[in-house]
Amino acid sequence: MRVVFLGPPGAGKGTQAKQEAERLRVLYIATGDELRKAISAGTPLGQKVRRYTTSGQLVPDGVIIDLVRELLTQPQGRDGVIFDGFPRTLPQAEALDALLRERGEALDAVLYFDVPAETVVERLSGRRVCRACGATYHIQYIPPKVAGKCDRCGGELYQRDDDRAETVRERLRVYAAQAAGLLDYYRAQDLLVPIQGGRSIEEVRGEVQAAMARLPAGRGDRGTVARQRLP
Ligand code: AMP
Repeated sequence: MRVVFLGPPGAGKGTQAKQEAERLRVLYIATGDELRKAISAGTPLGQKVRRYTTSGQLVPDGVIIDLVRELLTQPQGRDGVIFDGFPRTLPQAEALDALLRERGEALDAVLYFDVPAETVVERLSGRRVCRACGATYHIQYIPPKVAGKCDRCGGELYQRDDDRAETVRERLRVYAAQAAGLLDYYRAQDLLVPIQGGRSIEEVRGEVQAAMARLPAGRGDRGTVARQRLP
């Protein structure tokens, strides 16, 4: 089972992708999380990418593709992979196809989270992330039990630099510039499964789980995905 969770920043795809990867016990690859880890650890990769992430720009494709190639070598990847925040450009999408092909694998579906722009801004501005384990919260919709502390590990919650209003606008602009090409690419392969991402977390989770259960292969094997064409 190889599935891409695609959508604008703040679409809720990270929340859903993490839950699905845990539930299905497959590898979870979130390039944004890996870059933040590298930045906070001060690794050469972190130093290289910091200026892009803090300004809401995309990290160069070559850097991201090398990162994903390495992440895919983890043993858990044999059972399946959920990609979150990758691919973000057409060259990344083509590189992912090539990487999977080398492994004798292919994408099964691309879940496309469609969310109104105003919802995205509201979600991002209220988002808080655990410094220790990366769990995400929202000050209004998913508040932690104790303010400022992670329910799972007690770690400190913080607001990502790039979740501030000015950078959010830039990230949305960058997303929009790339999204049409990616959607065309996956639509042409009949891989797109639209998800109405603007609803509550529970409602979206129900739709995501139903889509995953209809995948043609893997743990959710129950036939073929009823892929809807986007308008
Ligand atoms: P995210 O956590 O997915 O919102 O990513 C945070 C930031 O990391 C983005 O704004 C980009 O600067 C960078 N980034 C993450 N994934 C990618 C990717 N696939 N391609 C280019 N840049 C990325």
